[in-house]
Amino acid sequence: MKLALFAGTLLLGCSLAPAQKTALAPIEPKAPQSFDPSAIDKSADPCQDFYQYACGNWEKENPIPPDQVRWGQFDLLRNRNTWLMYQLLEKAAKPDEQRSPLEQKYGDFYASCMNTKELDEKGVTALKPALDVIAAMTSKKQLAAVVGKLEIPYGISGLYAFGVGQDQKDSTLQIAQTSQGGLSLPDRDYYLQQTGRMQKIRQDFVSHMGKMFRLAGDSPERAVEEARNVMTIETALAQGSMSRTDLRDPSKRYHVMTLDQLSALTPEFQWQEYLQAISMGEFKTLNVATPDFFTAMNKQIHDLSLDAWKSYLRWRALHDAAPWMSHAFVQENFDFFSHELLGQQENAPRWKRCTRATDNALGEAVGQDWVKQYFSPEKKENMDKLVTALDTALAKDIAELPWMSEETKKNAQAKLDLMRRKIGYPEHWRDYSSVTINRDDLLGNIAQTTVYEDRRNLDKLGKPVDETEWGMTPPTVNAYYSPPLNDINFPAGILQPPFYDFSKDPAVNFGAIGTVIGHEMTHGFDDQGSQYDGHGNVQEWQTPTDRRAFNERTDCEVKEYGSFETVPGVKLNGKLTLGENTADNGGLRLAYMALMDTLAAQGAVEDKKIDGYTPAQRYFLSFGQVWCQNVREQAARNSALTDPHSPGRWRVNGAVQNFDEFGKAFACKKGAPMYPENSCRVW
Ligand SMILES: [Zn+2]
Repeated sequence: MKLALFAGTLLLGCSLAPAQKTALAPIEPKAPQSFDPSAIDKSADPCQDFYQYACGNWEKENPIPPDQVRWGQFDLLRNRNTWLMYQLLEKAAKPDEQRSPLEQKYGDFYASCMNTKELDEKGVTALKPALDVIAAMTSKKQLAAVVGKLEIPYGISGLYAFGVGQDQKDSTLQIAQTSQGGLSLPDRDYYLQQTGRMQKIRQDFVSHMGKMFRLAGDSPERAVEEARNVMTIETALAQGSMSRTDLRDPSKRYHVMTLDQLSALTPEFQWQEYLQAISMGEFKTLNVATPDFFTAMNKQIHDLSLDAWKSYLRWRALHDAAPWMSHAFVQENFDFFSHELLGQQENAPRWKRCTRATDNALGEAVGQDWVKQYFSPEKKENMDKLVTALDTALAKDIAELPWMSEETKKNAQAKLDLMRRKIGYPEHWRDYSSVTINRDDLLGNIAQTTVYEDRRNLDKLGKPVDETEWGMTPPTVNAYYSPPLNDINFPAGILQPPFYDFSKDPAVNFGAIGTVIGHEMTHGFDDQGSQYDGHGNVQEWQTPTDRRAFNERTDCEVKEYGSFETVPGVKLNGKLTLGENTADNGGLRLAYMALMDTLAAQGAVEDKKIDGYTPAQRYFLSFGQVWCQNVREQAARNSALTDPHSPGRWRVNGAVQNFDEFGKAFACKKGAPMYPENSCRVW
C-alpha cells in the first residue's frame, strides 16, 4: 500500500514531505476596531455610493492575505478568535499531568492534527479500514449497508443527508428526515451550467479526481476510469437536486412518507440495511425533503455497474479525508477546491487549519475555556439589554406598520412575544466523555467526533426537543435565527469589536451589533420565517390580503437586489438572497428606532457630533463598516450561486437606499441613488 503511494506520488511530481519552510511563530493579529473614521473615503459621495464612502479607504488598506479568499471586518475578527483559541490549544497540547479532562481532549486532538510527520508516513493507509469496506462489496444490493457503515464508525458522509429534526408542522416532534446530498462541487449548477467557465471547472474536477485516485494507488488508466464513473453519478444526482432557492421554501421540502413508500420510490436501495448499519431507532414515517433526488439516485443505482458505485464511494472517502491526510493529498485538494474554485493563493498555515478543525470537532470543549477568558458576565448583561431595546423597537414597528391589518399585527406580536434569546454560550455543555482522542490518529479522531455528533442527532428520535441546544460554537463570529425553535442566537465570538464595544457611544453599538440583532429578529418575519408561527410550526398567521401585500413587498426586494451586479456580468439572485436582504433592511430600521429611543431616554442631544459626525451618521457608518470587505473574483462568483447573503457592498447600499432616515442623516437630495423617490419596504 505504501509503495503504491510512493509510486503514485512520484509520478505526479509532488514530494511527499511538506516543503521545507522555516516555521515562523504566528504573529498576534490586531483586533479589529469598531467605527474607524480613517476607513472612510472622503472623496466619495455618501448619497451616490455609501459603501464606497464608508469602506473605500478600508478596502485600500486591507488587501486580501494570500491564505484568504475574502477579507472583511468579519474575517478579521474570525482570524483574531482563531488566534486566541490557538493560544489555548498550544498550551493544552503539551502532555502534562495538570491538564483538565477537557484540555486533554482538545489538546490531544490539536496535537494529532499538527503531527504531519505521522500523517505523511501513513499516507493513504490512514484510510485503509474504510477503503477495505468498499473493496469488500460484491453486489449493488450491499450499497445501502456500506453507505451506513462508512458513516458509522468512519464518519464519511454519503450519498444524501440523513438525520433527526423537528417536524415542520409539529415542532414538538423530532422525526427522521432525509434530503439530497452527495455532490462534491459547491452547487448543482456547477454540473449543469453550460458556460465556458463551468465546462472548464468540470474538466479540471475530473482531472483532480484522477490525481486523487492515483495518489490512492490506482494505475493511470484505472484512475481516469474511476474519475469518469464519479462524474457520471454526481452529474445525475445534480440533475435530480432541488435548487437552493426552492430549498428555502418549507412547503417544497416537506413530504412525509412511510418507509415502505420511500422503498417504493427507491427500490434499488435497501433502506432497512442502511438504518440497521447506523443503529437508527424505529420510526413509522419520515420527511423525504427532495423526492426527485432519490428518484435520480435510484435510477443511477439501477443503470450503473457495481464497479462505478465502488468508484463513487472510494471518492467520497478520499475527498472527505483529503484535507487531513498526507501532504500530497492536502496539496492536491487545496489546488482544486481552494485555489481554482475560490482563488485562494496559499493554504492557511497548519496551526490555523488545526485550530479550526478542533473548534469544528470539539467546539463545546474548547469553547468552555474560551468563554471563561474572553466573555464576561457584564458583556452578557449588556447584550441582553440591547436585545430588549430591539425587541421594543420591533413591537413598535409592527404596531405602526402602514400596510398590515390589526388582526395580523396581533399575530405578529404574538410570535414576537414567543421569540426566545440565547446569548454567548450554552447553559449546559455537551458531554464528550465518551469520545476517545488519540494523539497520533487525526483521521480516527475526526471519525470519533463526527460519529459522536451523528449519534447525538440520531438519538433525538422521538425525544422532547432541547430548546437550550446551540447550532454554533461559542467562538463563532456569526449569529442565527431558528424558525422551528423561534429563537435568536448570538455566540460569544461575535460580541466583540467591531460589532460590540461598550467603550464606544450607543450609535456605534446600535449600528453594528444592534443591526445584527434586528437582522436575526426580522428573520422570524421574512419570506421563509413568516411561514412559521411563534411555536415553530408552518402555519399561516397572516390574512390572505396581508399575505398578498407582504408578497408584493418582498417582490419589490427581489427585483431591486436582482438588479445589483456582483462581478462583471453576474447579477445577484434576488430570490435566493431575499430572506437575508429582508433581514438586513429590517435590522437597519429596528436598530435605528432603538437608538433614537435610547438617546431620547438619556436626554442626549441628537446632533452632538463625535469625530465630526452626528449620532445618526455614526450609526450608519458603523453599520456600513461592519460590511467592509475585499473578495477574490472566483469566490465572488461562487457566492453569487451559493450564498443566500448579498455581498457587503449591496448589504450596505441596498439597505440604506430603502430607509429614508439615511438620506436625511446625510442631507442627500431626494432622487439621489441612496435616497430614491421609490424604495422597497417589508418591515
Ligand atoms: Zn441572516
